[in-house]
Amino acid sequence: MHVLILGGTSEARRLAEILAAQAPDLTVTSSLAGRVTAPRLPPGEVRIGGFGGAGGLADWLGAHHVDALIDATHPFAATISFNAAEAAATAHVPLLALRRPGWVAGDGDVWHEAGSLEEAAALLPALGRRVFLTTGRMGLAAFAALADLWFLVRSVDAPEPPWPPRMEVLLDRGPFTLDGERELLRRHRIDVVVTKDSGGAATAPKLTAAREAGVSVVVVRRPPVPVGVPEATGPGQAARWLGTLLELGVFLDSD
Ligand code: NAP
Repeated sequence: MHVLILGGTSEARRLAEILAAQAPDLTVTSSLAGRVTAPRLPPGEVRIGGFGGAGGLADWLGAHHVDALIDATHPFAATISFNAAEAAATAHVPLLALRRPGWVAGDGDVWHEAGSLEEAAALLPALGRRVFLTTGRMGLAAFAALADLWFLVRSVDAPEPPWPPRMEVLLDRGPFTLDGERELLRRHRIDVVVTKDSGGAATAPKLTAAREAGVSVVVVRRPPVPVGVPEATGPGQAARWLGTLLELGVFLDSD
C-alpha cells in the first residue's frame, strides 16, 4: 500500500510520524514544494519539487501505484489543493484534505478581515504605523508602496524584493511562545499585526499577545477550496480515515 502526503505543514509531518509508528508496512511518501531551504523532514520517503500541474500529479499517482492521497498542504496553498482534487479524480485515487480549522476571534480581539494581501495593505494606514507582518516571505510586494509605515517581517527564509522601504527582517519559524510574542510586540512598539488565517496552535500566540496589548490584527481570509473533498481537521483523524480505507487496523489516540 502506498500513501502520498502533500505536505509543507506540521500536520503533514505529524501524520507521517503516526503512520510510520502504527503502520510500518505502509509506504508513505511526503511531497514538499521545495520553498524552504532546510525543511524539517518527516519519516518515510520524501520527494521535493512540483509535479507539473494536475496532469503531472495524476501521472505520478499512477506510476507510483498510490492507493490514497492526503492533501495536507497549508490552507493558503490553493493551487496544489485544486490540482490534488483534479488529479485524484483523473487517477481514481481516494483523496482526503487535512485542514486545520481557522482561527476565531474572541473577547477583546480587534480583528479586521481582508480578502487578500492587497486588501490587508490598504487597511494598514488607518490602523497603525509599526506593523508586524507574519504572512511569509512571498507577497511582500503588496506592502511595498507603504513608505510611511515601518514593518517587522518574520519569515522562515529571507524574503526577496520588492518589499516595503522601511523594514526589518526576523528569520524564525514556529512554534512561537506567548512570552516571546509579547516581548516582540513590546520591543518593536508594534501597533498592528498582519496574519493569514492559517489556524493551528504553533503561530496562535501572536493573536493572544495582540489581544492583551490592545493591538489591531488584520486577518487575511482563506482562499476557496475544491468542493466535494472529504476533510479531516487533524492528523489523527486523517490516520483513522486511512486506517478504514486501507484496512490497516485501528488508529486509536493518534493525534
Ligand atoms: P501553491 O501556490 O498551492 O502551489 C504552487 C505550485 O507549487 C503547485 O502548483 C505545485 O507545482 C507546487 N507545490 C505546492 N505544494 C506542493 C507540494 N506539497 N509538493 C509538491 N509540489 C507542490 O503552494 P504555495 O502557497 O506556494 O505553497 C508551497 C508549499 O508551502 C505547500 O506545500 C504548502 O503546504 C507550504 N506552505 C505554504 C504556505 C502559504 O502561506 N502559502 C505557508 C506554509 C507552508 P506543480 O503544479 O508543478 O505540481
